[in-house]
Amino acid sequence: SYRKGGYHAVRVGDQFAGGRYIAQRKLGWGQFSTVWLAYDTQTKTYVALKIQKSAPQFAQAALHEIEVLLAIADRDPSNSKCVVQLIDNFKHTGPNGQHPCMVLEFLGDSLLRLIKYNRYKGLPMNKVREICKCILIGLDYLHRELGIIHTDLKPENILLFNTIDPAKDPVRSELAPILERPEGGLNGGGVTSLIEKKMKRRARRAVAKISERRISMGVIGEPPKSDRNIGGIDVRCKIVDFGSACWADKQFAEEIQTRQYRAPEVILQAGYSFSVDMWSFACTAFELATGDMMFTPQSGQGFSEDEDHLALMMELLGKMPRKGAVTGARSKDFFDRHGDLKRIRRLKFWPVDKLLIERYKFSETDAREFAEFLVPILDFSPEKRPTAQQCLQHPWLQHKNSSQDKQINEPSLEKVDVGMSNLKIKVGK
Ligand code: ATP
Ligand code: MG
Ligand code: MG
Repeated sequence: SYRKGGYHAVRVGDQFAGGRYIAQRKLGWGQFSTVWLAYDTQTKTYVALKIQKSAPQFAQAALHEIEVLLAIADRDPSNSKCVVQLIDNFKHTGPNGQHPCMVLEFLGDSLLRLIKYNRYKGLPMNKVREICKCILIGLDYLHRELGIIHTDLKPENILLFNTIDPAKDPVRSELAPILERPEGGLNGGGVTSLIEKKMKRRARRAVAKISERRISMGVIGEPPKSDRNIGGIDVRCKIVDFGSACWADKQFAEEIQTRQYRAPEVILQAGYSFSVDMWSFACTAFELATGDMMFTPQSGQGFSEDEDHLALMMELLGKMPRKGAVTGARSKDFFDRHGDLKRIRRLKFWPVDKLLIERYKFSETDAREFAEFLVPILDFSPEKRPTAQQCLQHPWLQHKNSSQDKQINEPSLEKVDVGMSNLKIKVGK
């Protein structure tokens, strides 16, 4: 992908926007871009620099993303809405072409990494609650104030606040001078440059090791004490990645969302609106609490991934109302005229609260309260789902301390081997 039209190759110390930003280390990458930690010499802070691939379709997508991010920043001057802030944007010309670049506030690890570092056991319920509040504040802002649908909400696209100031980090500040020196050395090449490269490599490795240890110790992800308090919430995370976001009245894609977080109306092509983000939100909340994705559909003999997905939804949430099962452009592909799936006949129903108790060992109270919060958001009828604003009023989020917090259990055996899909009988056509 590092060829014409693709990613721009970055080395530690590279300069951008006429020397304003200096690349420090790679933070991540996606289908469209690489994202680097960069030092902003003007504001003397660290920022995230998202460098897009240069081919026309990627450049076009970046311009759209910038347009959305500008709208987001414009209505939130105090930066309190749990959505990432765009600081600057420019174009960078390199050997692979002209790359649109976005300068974003520097955030921490994604919720996906947080789930991983918890060894997929699920987070304590009070943490889940706090994170849910943040996501909902972000969604309420996007939906109600801006009319924007994110369309790709998932743990990977929600980032924690970064609590370690790279400049104040004692180890990093010792290594920073090495990492910040432009490649090629001060004397420009030769032996110095080789030594320089070696030192940098070593410094980079040291930094990576330290960060890893911090994450596993749970240091990363704790809000800084000085953090502003907004409505009694420590702001802990932010929604990112607006590459596929759209205005509700200007939709362009029919197939939206990452598979596991996709709403039923999208599968059935029955039209969509803000409530698709609510569906993905509920899937994300479940994953935070249990460590498992809510739905992991697979195709099999005689049925598609889509049909399996619909079957898994119905096993957990009950039968889809006939009306919903017949109105989508693709409904006939999956449902017969009675509203039953054509190829997956016998479903094994396992309601959310029972699943939480039986598989994830939640206490009865925790399971009931969490299910009462989640299940309405997973209504098959999009218009019946509560809005982000309504969810923020739900009693489950008002809890200060749940009386009897979910115990963190060692992963149990059945959790490892009983996939829900194994429980139903599938019949080939
Ligand atoms: P996708 O294929 O998911 O659309 P993308 O190319 O649009 O990817 P992003 O998802 O925006 O890129 O970013 C890629 C990764 O970079 C993220 O998953 C995250 O790890 C990291 N990242 C993005 N923005 C930031 C930020 N503001 N602060 C810190 N890290 C970030
Ligand atoms: Mg992404
Ligand atoms: Mg993207």
